[in-house]
Amino acid sequence: MLGVVGSNDIVMAIDSRAMVNRPREPQVGFAVDAGFGRADGPGRPDTAPWFKSCPYPGCAAGPLEFQQSTSCCPTCHQPVVFCGSCKTPNRSLAHRCRRCGGQIVRTLPALPTDKLVERFGGPRRVEVQEGVWQSPIVYAGFVWFLTGRGVLHRLSPASGQSVSVLSLGGEFGRSAFALDEPGPAEGRAPKMLVASSHSLRSISLTAGSSEEFCRLPDTGSQFFTADVARGSSGLATDNQSVCVAASNAGETGLMQVPRETRTPTFLGLCNPDDGPLVGPARVGNNIIAYSKKRVWVLSAGRLSTMEWPSGFCPTVSGPHTGTVRTGFGSCPYFLSPDGFYALGNQGGDPALGLIRPGQEPVAIPLTTVAEGVVAVDAQGRPLVALDGRIMRCDGMALAECLKATQLVPKGLPYADGTLVIGVKRFATQRLAMGLFVNQAGRADCPLPLDYWAGMAFLACGTHLVHAYITDTQELRMLLWEC
Ligand SMILES: [Zn+2]
Ligand SMILES: [Zn+2]
Repeated sequence: MLGVVGSNDIVMAIDSRAMVNRPREPQVGFAVDAGFGRADGPGRPDTAPWFKSCPYPGCAAGPLEFQQSTSCCPTCHQPVVFCGSCKTPNRSLAHRCRRCGGQIVRTLPALPTDKLVERFGGPRRVEVQEGVWQSPIVYAGFVWFLTGRGVLHRLSPASGQSVSVLSLGGEFGRSAFALDEPGPAEGRAPKMLVASSHSLRSISLTAGSSEEFCRLPDTGSQFFTADVARGSSGLATDNQSVCVAASNAGETGLMQVPRETRTPTFLGLCNPDDGPLVGPARVGNNIIAYSKKRVWVLSAGRLSTMEWPSGFCPTVSGPHTGTVRTGFGSCPYFLSPDGFYALGNQGGDPALGLIRPGQEPVAIPLTTVAEGVVAVDAQGRPLVALDGRIMRCDGMALAECLKATQLVPKGLPYADGTLVIGVKRFATQRLAMGLFVNQAGRADCPLPLDYWAGMAFLACGTHLVHAYITDTQELRMLLWEC
């Protein structure tokens, strides 16, 4: 067995409260713009021409070695992406090369499994002393998360340090968020969309500023359902518009906001008898939402509706469905590249409802379980952790992907290639993350005592990140460098 969490374990407290109202001061690595057209050049260290140096201001790294996929600067630990044409290093959020203006293509390297085995025992631990309601996401080599106080943070896994990008206020802290990469008309800069009850805001990830995308009248009967503590909150974009879960005089539906006019239109979907609406979420170029009774698919501006398969009852009220839990914040569904899986039950047993655009919804039984946890593997396929085994949903059926008697359905499972991670219990009752390669147990990482529930496993370049929450609902992250 490899080393355990111990002396090489770095604990960092990130106190978001201190960041909220503080005037923004220059922070190393905070990208004020994406780096295109900056003349941060000829005065740089004489060892390297400006176009070979680290693209982040204030970093004195020497020439950076070309990498095919997003890597990180060895000095400032910020993610760097190299131009495919002229090999110049750029900031990972750049959309054009700062030297030749060519379009940047961001890819993250595959997780190096062999190195993960070596380092699995001693993760770096990051504390965020604040509640978080939605799972963090990975984009451009950073981990992004929104705290309950409405502060968007960006964490660089290589340094384990996070910076607050922007504070929007607590009314935005329980909203779903959606990453948006707009087209050329809107400048292509990546954005994050979040909502409060009456405001939809667009945050520029490169500038760290926000603008109001759309506002509903304070006095009207319409509002965005943007508080996951009160039910489902959903937000999704397609090429033409932004869709937000909304309510209008007791009816629930989608507020559709075209990118061009930004004038909202309410699409009423459910009356109060139908119960709440879940979603919207994006699959391909389709926007999907559902209620207990029906599924709606919005495709190129056209809305179609379907029934759930007979006997299938989706979860609409939170992350729990009978005996199966998820770690997706308060979402009772998850997305894969080609489909949308809703948690639910069929005939009293847990089941998944699979929606694929253009096809009728189907139900996939999750087998009768005393307790289970559902997550997705690196390819977006459902993984179900049960007592003693982890099952994977391949197409339409569950198949065992790992059997180990010590496995317990406590934390989220994770799988990528030949590697599987599951929570196991030692004879001492202590819980650990067990890492299995080719079905064989290879390394354990005892879980911190404050571990309450897993929220997400995220592969971020050569780092594996596990976000979990404590019993006081604070966010923690375990970072393994591979
Ligand atoms: Zn640097
Ligand atoms: Zn270039």
